[in-house]
Amino acid sequence: MTITAPLRIVYGTKLKNTMEPTTTAKKYIPNPQLPRQRGSRQAPDERATNFNEVAQGLSAEEAAREATRCLNCKNPPCTAACPVNIKIPEFIACLRDGDAGGAVSKIMETSLLPAICGRVCPQENHCEGACVLGKKFKPVAIGLLERYAADTARKAGKLKAPATAPETGKKAAVVGSGPSSVSAAAELRRAGHKVTVYEALHDFGGVLRYGIPTFRLPREIISQEIANVKAMGVDFVADVLIGSTLTIEDLLKAYDAVYIGSGAGLPTMPGIPGENLVGVCSANEFLTRINLMHAYKPEADTPLNVGKKVVVLGGGNSAMDAARCAKRLGPESVTLAYRRSRDEMPARAEEVENAEEEGVKMEFLLAPVEFIGDEKSNLKKIKFQRMALGEPDASGRRKPVPVAGSEFEMDCDTAIIAIGQRPNPIIQKTTGGLSTGRHGVIVVDDSGKTSLDKVYSGGDSIRGGATVLLAMKDGKRAAAAINKFLAEKK
Ligand code: FAD
Ligand code: SF4
Repeated sequence: MTITAPLRIVYGTKLKNTMEPTTTAKKYIPNPQLPRQRGSRQAPDERATNFNEVAQGLSAEEAAREATRCLNCKNPPCTAACPVNIKIPEFIACLRDGDAGGAVSKIMETSLLPAICGRVCPQENHCEGACVLGKKFKPVAIGLLERYAADTARKAGKLKAPATAPETGKKAAVVGSGPSSVSAAAELRRAGHKVTVYEALHDFGGVLRYGIPTFRLPREIISQEIANVKAMGVDFVADVLIGSTLTIEDLLKAYDAVYIGSGAGLPTMPGIPGENLVGVCSANEFLTRINLMHAYKPEADTPLNVGKKVVVLGGGNSAMDAARCAKRLGPESVTLAYRRSRDEMPARAEEVENAEEEGVKMEFLLAPVEFIGDEKSNLKKIKFQRMALGEPDASGRRKPVPVAGSEFEMDCDTAIIAIGQRPNPIIQKTTGGLSTGRHGVIVVDDSGKTSLDKVYSGGDSIRGGATVLLAMKDGKRAAAAINKFLAEKK
């Protein structure tokens, strides 16, 4: 194996090695000027008619080339910016040596979901946003390399479940099976505790499975990464709604600690007239019907009919996913209406670009004021008001301000609302003493502990809608606190 000595790069000067190479080491000379690799994608016309994965990832040659762009920084800002602190230069170094198995093992020291994160994490806001190459060139395509490592190792049968410590005899229950719960469960199991995951739905993965469409995240990828956590010895139990089938109190009688990762599955509605018309639905319902009930297939029990003119309200990942799914169902037009401008859109830039390429029309600075139906209560139009951008609000983005007298109507037979979500209140309502905050989020301290002893929480249930990586970070943080508390417990 090649042992790579760290290099200090000063642009415009000769590359200087800061450490003598070991006897067998080959000097690594990075090539940051190479164009950033993008991988192939299905052509827009073709992909807009199917639900197969759009991005095809990197080939072996592209991955090898991209890996040589990394400067192998001594104090890598990319790792510091990653919410789960993946050892990025180390895993990229393995890829340079052609060792995908080693690369994925390195990633899995801190993240159990490499093939998922490589596909859906907003790297531009985390590792890639901090990559030093970004100052002069394009950042290293860390997400694509992570995906390549995970996919290649899996296909070669080299994806191994992490080792677990000897059994401690302690037991933990985990509520929900989204990325936050899966990360918490894996870390608790790594420490040798018996772990049971309780999921309300019939399948596991949370939003990864019922929210994010197959063309961004194929279902076998989710199943395989969850299978890896199962292989560690974590038990997954489906169809158990905590707060109804069992309560948190029941779990506390049977387990030494409980982690709540119940997400934020309750959609926010705009609160305007006409929301109950036929043809108006939330992105949550629309995407669940597509992803979990396969309603895009004509043979499905409850197929979806989106009519001719679809309008999606919102500017985040859910809005983009709903618009792109709707496009694949073949209406005349899909328009996405967002109340701020393109610059304030929370969706990943790559997904906005994908949606536009597929034919989704974007309209900015529009807020809905009324859904208008016919005599049979079928949606026919949406009344909009134009907006202008005012001062920044609490989120730091410029606030949309209504423009007086600017109302107009847009034809529409399906409106999909994707303007936000909040936690489902069932656990909060059935658990005495559990403190909650704004919009019903569970309140936790710096370790992830709730107001109840032995009960921890994280992910969207404490944030009210965030990202996969932040949910994983919360799950790991709480697991570390639970592991400490269980280690001290007699
Ligand atoms: P969830 O993933 O919501 O999982 C919670 C799980 O708990 C669910 O399976 C639910 O059924 C279960 N549950 C809830 N209540 C109970 C109960 N009482 N008993 C038992 N089980 C229960 N983030 C990104 O980083 N990149 C993206 O590209 C991206 N795209 C997104 C697209 C969509 C459509 C949506 C909705 C979100 C997207 N996000 C994205 C956000 C990201 O998916 C979430 O932040 C993340 O999944 C939160 O993880 P979680 O584990 O906290 O909750
Ligand atoms: Fe490589 Fe960029 Fe990370 Fe430096 S910051 S180690 S160049 S990926």
